Amino acid sequence: MPAEPSALPRRLTVDTDAQTLSIEWTDGHRTDFPLDGLRRACPCAECMGGHEHMGTLPDPVVFRLPALMRWEKVRVDPVGSYAVRIRWDDGHDSGIYTWKRLRATCPCDACSS
Ligand SMILES: [Zn+2]
Ligand SMILES: [Zn+2]
Repeated sequence: MPAEPSALPRRLTVDTDAQTLSIEWTDGHRTDFPLDGLRRACPCAECMGGHEHMGTLPDPVVFRLPALMRWEKVRVDPVGSYAVRIRWDDGHDSGIYTWKRLRATCPCDACSS
């Protein structure tokens, strides 16, 4: 499934000091995810409660909740050209975060209003 042009990343940055994962998109938009929220929004079948829910977007409220823990060793690996796999400090790495999904869940005021 090819990503739409507007949903392609130009740059992805993980900042463990700020506890954010930031994506600059080719259309100039910028998305800042709190790491803890992104972990809670893990799109894998296990975290989503079954394969039938994997297409469901996470409740944006997870990005506004206070972080429960700090994530210091987050590793982001590309999956083809359409997604990234994120490996978390707790060893969990089954979540494939597609660009499309990440863009669709952008928690900024402009996207979530
Ligand atoms: Zn998961
Ligand atoms: Zn946005």
